[in-house]
Amino acid sequence: MKKSTKLVNAGKKESMAAINTINPPLHRASTVMFDSYADMLKANKGEFDGVEYGTYGLAAQKAFEAAMIELEGAYGCKTFQSGIAAISMVLMAYTKQGDHILICDNVYGPTRHFCNGFLAKYGVKAEFLPSDADAGVADYIRKNTALLFMESPGSNTLEIQDVPAIAKICKEKGVVSVIDNTWATPLYFNPFEHGVDVSIQSCTKYITGHSDILLGSVSTNEQSWASFEKCCGLFEVFAPQEDCYQALRGLRTLKVRLKAHEDSAFEIAKWLEDHAMVEGVIHPAMESHPQHDLWKRDFKGSSGLFSFTLKEEYEDVDHSRFMDNLELFGLGYSWGGYKSLITGGKFQRTNTFGYEGKTIFRLSIGLEDAEDLKADLAQGLERLKG
Ligand SMILES: *Cc1c(COP(=O)(O)O)cnc(C)c1O
Repeated sequence: MKKSTKLVNAGKKESMAAINTINPPLHRASTVMFDSYADMLKANKGEFDGVEYGTYGLAAQKAFEAAMIELEGAYGCKTFQSGIAAISMVLMAYTKQGDHILICDNVYGPTRHFCNGFLAKYGVKAEFLPSDADAGVADYIRKNTALLFMESPGSNTLEIQDVPAIAKICKEKGVVSVIDNTWATPLYFNPFEHGVDVSIQSCTKYITGHSDILLGSVSTNEQSWASFEKCCGLFEVFAPQEDCYQALRGLRTLKVRLKAHEDSAFEIAKWLEDHAMVEGVIHPAMESHPQHDLWKRDFKGSSGLFSFTLKEEYEDVDHSRFMDNLELFGLGYSWGGYKSLITGGKFQRTNTFGYEGKTIFRLSIGLEDAEDLKADLAQGLERLKG
């Protein structure tokens, strides 16, 4: 054999040897080789069971998906390069031209934009439900309603939906029920136990937990899997191997991290509720939350993300005195990481809601000491008072 041939093939046998590490190997692959021509013929006909190309998901992705299936009690799971990529795939997979879909008003902003900016182009009409939707959704379902999308608690304003009641009606009417379960994670709310067909996670948040990864997952029950898998196969979407590896690693410590986020956030929320400048704290585990009873009934815990409003509504720019002077809270989007973050802004909804024109401050409580975080908020609010 000539040197040039050796350069191409040397070490191949050793690279294939199984080494028994605790964590999965990180493959880099477009091509995945078949064991035989018979297998290739099967793949040509779309009948091959294994992984036939890099886009079908490699070891770390398969391992993470298997872990999510087990954790959620799902039938199938697929991973995507971000949470919004997971959401858009779900919205495309279960809809077709002429369909009507129902979306809860408090969904993540880009979810709304995808419906209005993309699906509308293809003749799918989105209608927005009140954020605290319950069995009353029956009145909104039409003959051509294909899908109902929940996010509970929803983004920024954290209203909770009566998920089991909605899922039951969807089942009766043949509507696919979907939930963005990012806030609770599969640890604190299990969508399938509450009758939902499709569960979405932005793994970018608590599952990876270090503000350095973008990743999303979609899990479904048996009935909803085939059509979803088919759509994913047509797009040939996949998730980066390193990111799946980190997500799997994140699952190993999710329980202890989430508990720490939960305890700190609850303590800070209670402290804020008593603060002289604070009008209200929006935290599902607090009795003042409008759907607190639903949270108590359906959830096993609360995460580290909640919001609050101030008694006095300042000019937008004046809030800089508060926001720019925080030492420990980063001013930035996303959440669920080890570092505490704050956002602020006014939100719009399609339906009437209680926070029209009101600035909502949202905190993602990280893993710092709660006393230090309280002191930081206290000095920031003091400066706002001027
Ligand atoms: C962040 C977020 C997403 C999107 O996740 P990305 O990975 O950032 O695209 C979806 N839903 C909710 C509720 C989120 O907070």
